[in-house]
Amino acid sequence: MAHQTGAAIIARALHGLGVEVIFGLVGIPVVQIAEEAIALGIRFIAFRNEQAASYAATAYGYLTGKPGVCLVVGGPGVLHAMAGIGNASANAFPLLLLGGSSETHQVTKGAFQEMDAISLLTPHTKIAIRCGLDSVPQSLTNAYRTSWYGRAGPSFVDLPADVIQGEGEETTTHLIPAPPKAASDPAKIITVAELLKSAKAPLVVVGKGAAYAQAESTIRQLIDQTKIPFLPTPMGKGVLPDSHPSNTSSARSAALKGADVVLVLGARLNWILHFGEEPKWSSAAKICQVDISAEELGKNNGDSSLSIVGDIKLVTLQLATALQGWKYDTSSNYIKALKASAAKNEAKAAEAAILDKVPMTYARTFNIIKETLDRFSRVDEGGIVYVSEGANTMDISRSVFPVEHPRLRLDAGTYATMGVGLGYAIAAHCAYNLPSPEAVSGPNMSRKKIVCLEGDSAFGFSLAEVETMARYGMDILIFVINNGGVYHGDSEDSDKWLQMQQNTIDGKEKDGLRSTSLGWEVGYEKIVEMCGGKGYLVRTPAELAKATEAGFKATVPVIVNVIIEAGQGKKLEFAWQNNSKKTKEEA
Ligand code: ADP
Repeated sequence: MAHQTGAAIIARALHGLGVEVIFGLVGIPVVQIAEEAIALGIRFIAFRNEQAASYAATAYGYLTGKPGVCLVVGGPGVLHAMAGIGNASANAFPLLLLGGSSETHQVTKGAFQEMDAISLLTPHTKIAIRCGLDSVPQSLTNAYRTSWYGRAGPSFVDLPADVIQGEGEETTTHLIPAPPKAASDPAKIITVAELLKSAKAPLVVVGKGAAYAQAESTIRQLIDQTKIPFLPTPMGKGVLPDSHPSNTSSARSAALKGADVVLVLGARLNWILHFGEEPKWSSAAKICQVDISAEELGKNNGDSSLSIVGDIKLVTLQLATALQGWKYDTSSNYIKALKASAAKNEAKAAEAAILDKVPMTYARTFNIIKETLDRFSRVDEGGIVYVSEGANTMDISRSVFPVEHPRLRLDAGTYATMGVGLGYAIAAHCAYNLPSPEAVSGPNMSRKKIVCLEGDSAFGFSLAEVETMARYGMDILIFVINNGGVYHGDSEDSDKWLQMQQNTIDGKEKDGLRSTSLGWEVGYEKIVEMCGGKGYLVRTPAELAKATEAGFKATVPVIVNVIIEAGQGKKLEFAWQNNSKKTKEEA
């Protein structure tokens, strides 16, 4: 057997597992692994900060249905990438993080970037292992498989410098089959089917677990056949088309409150779904949760008797079969109430969308972007992936941009992680637009425009990644929704902002800049120009429409810096933490 460097053995092992893209940031000693991987035809996307790279790998895992891989240096590199570990864990996305580490014989001597990453990451990963030169194939195979099988999540492999730089025998790894899928106990299917048939107000909630499970065809069959209304969670949007007649998104509160039997497909009863509790839900509602993770069932409502452990795709097919010949009577009072509520909410939204003033409001801004994009990309063709973050930007835009196909909308997710946006956009570009057709499976995988809707605060978390986009020629279109602050922005005009800044400098803190204040009309569009992209600063509807068109057609990254009304949007409140008040998800 031929001898190879540890770096080459590691790269070959990843290649054998079918890894096509690695997100990361190199340094000694992992740079050799990246170079060997590139030599094997693996794409290495080099970021400016490990945090964004790790976020990108998590989103790539979600979009492709296979683990995303991230490579970083030890010590500080792993610490920065812990953000991705937390994000993968909270969202149940498959992630394999590979971190370099100091030479084994120097451990405890104060070695270069020395850190006990295994102890640090063990509580936060499904598996965290140190790899030896002889154990590369099994370490990487097991870590990759473990992140993917069961409920997806993060795994970690620590790669000591002496392993990377050592020499060993050439080894091989093989493609791992996709995770086996479990169907439900047939008796449980009959119980749930009978319950749905007896319901006066049934509801299906479709979560991002259903999108990750690529279960759209069987869920569609179930809904088309039974006519039960459905409600997508923010990232469950698109599993069924938003235009589907059974979609009750516009009557979200009424749908949840009025439902008596709720089938939850791939969503947890966490803050996003108000814990499945009163007052947002009826206390009498019977909840049937379908989840791959048995531990999830009954977690917050205490009752798992109606819930099903299994793969959503198989279980919904079983339910559709059991419900054949039955359909919900859509002349019910529940449906009438949903229609009335939807009409009211839609009228309110339509009114907000046309409010014509400069600086523009959020609603008007999103409406102009949507109308312009609609002219160049038909919604039903699913040619756009939306990435959205920032409290108000994410909440308000969610209902404006319809999504007709699964996995075309990414947002801050379960952890409400601000700063994921640019990494997610790069991941989406790689998942959908890299030349390799094997990079992704599933329908609607043709080339797509990635459109980011970024609050100015959220954008700031990772704005250096604009250079990453430009370096790789990614034609991502970024809108920075600029109100000069976290949440609503604090200054109505530049004079007020300057006064506040002066007060801060003069030590008059009470009248100074707020903790939520950002710079006044910062020229974010210039960042992309520095890197070879195109930037537009816009204030009026006409300027915005023109820049949106140019941005959509551009072949380089584009930033459209939209100055919107400051001091607007929702009030600074944390109502989503208080279940008795209006919540964040209700914007
Ligand atoms: P959302 O944010 O849309 O509310 P969550 O992330 O809370 O969704 O929930 C997704 C759920 O989907 C997780 O509990 C996860 O275990 C589950 N899940 C993921 N893949 C599958 C699958 N193939 N079959 C069943 N459940 C799945």
